[in-house]
Amino acid sequence: MGITMKQNESKILIFGGTGYIGSHMVKASIKLGHPTYVFTRPDSDKKDLIREFQSMGAIIIKGRVEEHDKLVEALREVDIVISALAYPQVLDQLKILEAIKIAGNIKRFLPSDFGVEEDRVSALPPFEAFLDKKRRIRRAIEEAKIPYTFISANCYGSYFINYLLNPSHPNKQEITVYGSGEAKAVLNYEQDIGMYTIKVATDPRMHNRIVIFRPSENAVSQLELISLWEKKTGKIFKKTHISEEEIVTLSQTLPDPQNIPVSILHSVFVKGATADFEIGGDDVEASSLYPDLKFSTVDEMLDVFLKNPPKPASAAFE
Ligand code: NDP
Repeated sequence: MGITMKQNESKILIFGGTGYIGSHMVKASIKLGHPTYVFTRPDSDKKDLIREFQSMGAIIIKGRVEEHDKLVEALREVDIVISALAYPQVLDQLKILEAIKIAGNIKRFLPSDFGVEEDRVSALPPFEAFLDKKRRIRRAIEEAKIPYTFISANCYGSYFINYLLNPSHPNKQEITVYGSGEAKAVLNYEQDIGMYTIKVATDPRMHNRIVIFRPSENAVSQLELISLWEKKTGKIFKKTHISEEEIVTLSQTLPDPQNIPVSILHSVFVKGATADFEIGGDDVEASSLYPDLKFSTVDEMLDVFLKNPPKPASAAFE
């Protein structure tokens, strides 16, 4: 009872809350009854979403991470800070960290990780450089002794189903397979990532932990994913493989930052980086933490695509 009361009272400030994944966190936070604050730029182009958040009860704070005093003032209003800023803004989080140190009241900071577990994976150089920036933020948070939870959410499910299967192009007969197509990748539904992020952010057990979203049944190979989709749609697709060698060459020849997405495909879908290591030590796997909550299965995500396909999205790399 005591713990539940405290969790519900936590005030949560979300940076990047208007974004692809951040918007699910804002909605989950409101749904779970937390006073929810969204930090957004004055010239953000997400006006409709901001109005929607306001109508749901969110408090909107307009500003930029460069505005140190405004940041400190906003932070003093809340308990928990989540950053879902995009990759090009990863190092800007050092400004949030500086303000958190000054504010002195923040009980938990979750930086913008939400991908492969960066402290457990090694990748091709362009993806390594990407991960290094995120690692730098983790180390700075640890060094500052700010309480944290680091989340590895693995693949955003709809994002990668769109990318791999092209369901929004129903006439497309061909599917590209990276490598043999047999490596397993973990796909999690964006709504679930939002909900689990808020749950772990407010969970006293997850203080200073790395939390990995890896429900065992959500680890699927590309070939399994295609076969599930073929069964659901009644279609047979032509599979075109791109070899590992070709992908490595692309990672070496494409200009920066176009060399990042191919290097991510290599890690996740050729090497199996989201599924191939044991979760041990202090690290936590999230799927059995909350008896009242479960991750949607890949099958359920594909059903969503059959009925009401989520729009394709493309992450920012510059
Ligand atoms: P978005 O690209 O959706 O951006 C999030 C928000 O950042 C925007 O809504 C905007 O908020 C703010 N923003 C955008 N540009 C700028 C800028 N130039 N300066 C300051 N703020 C800016 O983020 P994503 O949801 O794609 O990415 C969030 C995290 O998820 C990242 O860490 C990314 O690496 C990761 N990711 C993981 C994936 C996976 O499969 N695991 C897939 C894709 C991303 P506003 O307009 O309100 O200011």
